Amino acid sequence: MSVAEDQSTGARVVDVLAPVAVDAPYSYLAPPALALAPGDSVKIPLGAREAYGVVWSVAETPAPAHANLKTVAARLDRPPLPQTLRDFIDWLARYTLTPRGMALRLATRAAEEAAPEALRTLYRATGQAPERLTPTRARVLAAAEGGMAFSKKALAEAAGCGPTVIDALVDDGALVAMTAPPDPVAGALDPAYSPPSLEPAQFDAAKALVSAVRAKAYAPFLLEGVTGSGKTEVYFEAIAAALEDGGQALVMMPEIALTAQFLERFAARFGEKPAEWHSGVSARKRARIWRAAATGKLSVVAGARSALFLPFCNLRLIVVDEEHEAAYKQDDGVCYHARDMAVVRARFEHAAIVLASATPSIETRVNAESGRYRHLRLHARAGARPMPLLEPIDMRREGPSRGRWIAPRLASAVAETIARGEQTLLFLNRRGYAPLTLCRDCGHRFRCRQCDAWLVEHRFRRALVCHHCGHVERRPDTCPECHATDSLAACGPGVERLAEEAATLFPDARVLVLSSDFPGGAERLRRELDDIAKGAFDIVIGTQLVAKGHNFPQLTLVGVVDADLGLGSGDPRASERTFQLLNQVTGRAGRGDKPGRALIQTFQPEHPVIAALLSGDAEKFYAQEIALRRRAGLPPYGRLAALIVSAKDAATAEAHARALARAAHDLPPAPRYRVAAPGSLPEAEDILLLGPAEAPIALIRGRFRYRLLVKAPRSADVQSFLRDLIDAAPKPRGGVRVQIDVDPQTF
Ligand code: ADP
Ligand code: ZN
Repeated sequence: MSVAEDQSTGARVVDVLAPVAVDAPYSYLAPPALALAPGDSVKIPLGAREAYGVVWSVAETPAPAHANLKTVAARLDRPPLPQTLRDFIDWLARYTLTPRGMALRLATRAAEEAAPEALRTLYRATGQAPERLTPTRARVLAAAEGGMAFSKKALAEAAGCGPTVIDALVDDGALVAMTAPPDPVAGALDPAYSPPSLEPAQFDAAKALVSAVRAKAYAPFLLEGVTGSGKTEVYFEAIAAALEDGGQALVMMPEIALTAQFLERFAARFGEKPAEWHSGVSARKRARIWRAAATGKLSVVAGARSALFLPFCNLRLIVVDEEHEAAYKQDDGVCYHARDMAVVRARFEHAAIVLASATPSIETRVNAESGRYRHLRLHARAGARPMPLLEPIDMRREGPSRGRWIAPRLASAVAETIARGEQTLLFLNRRGYAPLTLCRDCGHRFRCRQCDAWLVEHRFRRALVCHHCGHVERRPDTCPECHATDSLAACGPGVERLAEEAATLFPDARVLVLSSDFPGGAERLRRELDDIAKGAFDIVIGTQLVAKGHNFPQLTLVGVVDADLGLGSGDPRASERTFQLLNQVTGRAGRGDKPGRALIQTFQPEHPVIAALLSGDAEKFYAQEIALRRRAGLPPYGRLAALIVSAKDAATAEAHARALARAAHDLPPAPRYRVAAPGSLPEAEDILLLGPAEAPIALIRGRFRYRLLVKAPRSADVQSFLRDLIDAAPKPRGGVRVQIDVDPQTF
């Protein structure tokens, strides 16, 4: 035995990462009795307080006796964080330039909000008789009858015995201990349900996915298929394969709170709903799901982007449904794109990943075309249903009269649809009554004092609302500037105003307005969506909330009220977004037994996006967009990062943004990137700094924002550059905040 070991206490040095804004784990001493391994959760002294942390590594040899370190306080009763998840956290932190502790927080927050200590253990009868049945034991089992789970205290009280009797019954196998009661399966299963027999294209796609899942290796797929082509049925087969092998599957969805239909369909297919994971799920339930994912008791999670950080112990498949959705991008706190990170997680897990969409993002299409992802395609709707017939309404020639937004041709189509007993969706991607309110006498416009935005009138609430910060004020009756009465005018339509027009045009129709302002929360919204599916409304007027994913069998007509909205925003992604959204919306028509039709109101039917939509020529659209991105060196042909500098006043924010730009140009030469000199002609391999300029929304919640855009060729190591820049730049002071957004979605 060496001298060092002899003098040691046998304690090990462990490095523990705390879920706080630090990048490196801290070292602690751990008594051998704790037998800590990487991934274990521990309680540690952190400064003056106690904190949780996760063991990142354990030293090979015992610590020398003189090691002057604090000691781990306790080990937590929590399943370990798998190595694959720890590797993923390290990777994500490096890629997004996030302190590692903050990346860890994404994974442990749910477990901590309802700490395991707070979870009761519950007991349930297994139905198995104990070896020895005493009268006391019989009383306990009688109390536990009926399949319900009880706490130890409740059972002991009911049977008039001590707690050790319960433990003995668990040892005998007559009771089972659980950390939480099982979730009841809500919604009745349909006993008559059997999955449709797949069509040839579906079958081929499913076969490819199933064999990838079975192969237990990283395998990325793009599953591209028009709306209603049966993509869900295809990836259900892949989930079934994962489950048959005892593995786990994660289905990511952009609007998980609204996917009741999906959950029911899943339950009908698999006999049980998947665990739901999003911010609307209670902390207790989330803690339970977290634990069950780590122990393998839970097999399928359907979740929002944060589900990506669950501690799955045997993840075999990730599905990213509607992979093109902007909702996958997280923009505050840790900025990450959940779709991209899902691909990375799948790589660490050696799992299959399916990105599913009718209109993939340009990035994903390019990855599929280059062979990095396997491209699976469904060209036609399932069940021999035709695609909806699309027709433009040229608003320059056939527009409605002033102050109206529904063209005569659309109005008569709606009337015919109602007469046939079918449903119409009028789509307008604008919440509220009117996007702008002004005074006709003095020209005063209502603007948010906290943000660079007009206030939107919401007539149902009699309020003016800021859609950026949520600020609400009463809509006055007189102009606050010139005090004229009856001079305030609403400009342009929102969904509420459209509902007013629909009520005049179709006085007997049952009309429902749906947008994210809908009162009553997700539950009520789910019920309304259900009612639409059952045919309780003739006309649904909605924003993008109703455009996506839903299946309304009786909906045969879609009217796009303003197809041009969003095309003029100047964002290079505007075309892609509009194309995707309009495809989604029109794709709601004709998903049931009757064929669908969509009328598209536009002032520019010859615009490439509208033309591609009308002709159904997605290939042409992608070819154009991809060529454009390639020429401009935009993602995925180049890389972007944004530095957003914000402060309470504009001058401070701008000054710091300029200091950052100067620091970037003053960086010493580095091997893995080169910054273009200001004013000189950049070389192809140079990193370009654009700005600083006012951010696309220059004022939000009272903070002024300046943006420095970093545009780099794919060969440059953007992360090294950003790290060097942050180290070299003056530290933000005086309330200045710098947010780094790698791969920003708005350019
Ligand atoms: P997507 O996910 O591509 O929009 P879905 O999987 O939701 O498509 O399928 C659209 C509709 O077609 C659903 O009502 C579904 O039940 C039905 N469907 C899917 N596959 C088949 C099939 N092979 N035969 C008949 N109907 C099918
Ligand atoms: Zn505001």
